[in-house]
Amino acid sequence: MPRGAAAVRPSPLRLDPTGRRLPPPLFPSHANLQTLGHLGRAGHAHSWVVMTCSMADKEFALSGSDQNPDLTCKNPALMALQAHRTEAGSVRASIEHSEDVVTGNRLPALVAAMNALTPATPLDPARVEHEVLTRDQQLLNDYGKDAQWMSVRNARAYAPERALRIAPPHRLLDPAHGPLIALRLRPLTRKTLGGVQTTLDAQVVRPDGTAFDGLYAAGEAAGFGGGGMHGYNALEGGFLGGCVFSGHTAGRALAARELA
Ligand SMILES: Cc1cc2nc3c(=O)[nH]c(=O)nc-3n(C[C@H](O)[C@H](O)[C@H](O)COP(=O)(O)OP(=O)(O)OC[C@H]3O[C@@H](n4cnc5c(N)ncnc54)[C@H](O)[C@@H]3O)c2cc1C
Repeated sequence: MPRGAAAVRPSPLRLDPTGRRLPPPLFPSHANLQTLGHLGRAGHAHSWVVMTCSMADKEFALSGSDQNPDLTCKNPALMALQAHRTEAGSVRASIEHSEDVVTGNRLPALVAAMNALTPATPLDPARVEHEVLTRDQQLLNDYGKDAQWMSVRNARAYAPERALRIAPPHRLLDPAHGPLIALRLRPLTRKTLGGVQTTLDAQVVRPDGTAFDGLYAAGEAAGFGGGGMHGYNALEGGFLGGCVFSGHTAGRALAARELA
């Protein structure tokens, strides 16, 4: 499978390349920017998420899958089907063919497969086992204080999340939910978050603030989230709208210029 952007939701265990669990709140799908900062400051080029098959079924998604037609067509019947189907085909293909995914029926086999993938930075199997057992023990009673489990339970209080996107809490070492899956995550640039400044008519502005006659910019080339339509915030999933809208603005300005 070609490399792509994967999204992992809140239940899997996230480890740094030494096998140490990332501190709260740096769990999957929480505080992604802080997670990148944490890993970058430590000089880590990758991290791991470890999950069960049941977690992968509901929580391992490929980027953009939320835009699937079942949701965007607002078809409740298809959405109900989606609850059971997930993105089975593409996710299964990722697990079977991705160079970043390994599996194991038991934890020692999984860690061995992870280490075969990253021989330069091998995980300490005892450290990984300690992290897994410590987290699993927090599920032994309903009042466990593990911050990640508390967050998962909170997210599952919302019925659509519970039905569609977040697996019921279960132990990583519960064989009923196996086999285990580990996914190596590496940072990927998928948005520029930069671009040139423009006027509201999409005309490029020089550093001295004067308009650049005849030069127009749209989409990511024109700033955060497509023409800076969302200010300085890069709202996940909100780029295409800004890109299309800023293209429309530039097109109208150019047409008006031609007619003038
Ligand atoms: C994996 C991934 C998932 C994403 N998911 C979402 C999402 O779910 N929702 C969302 O809103 N946004 C998403 N985005 C972001 C969104 O796709 C981009 O912000 C948007 O497509 C940018 O549009 P654009 O027209 O500015 O640039 P692009 O779509 O990159 O278009 C630029 C075009 O210019 C062409 N080009 C480059 N150089 C030259 C040249 N010298 N001469 C001629 N042509 C050239 C390129 O080939 C390209 O076709 C995602 C991005 C990625 C990478």
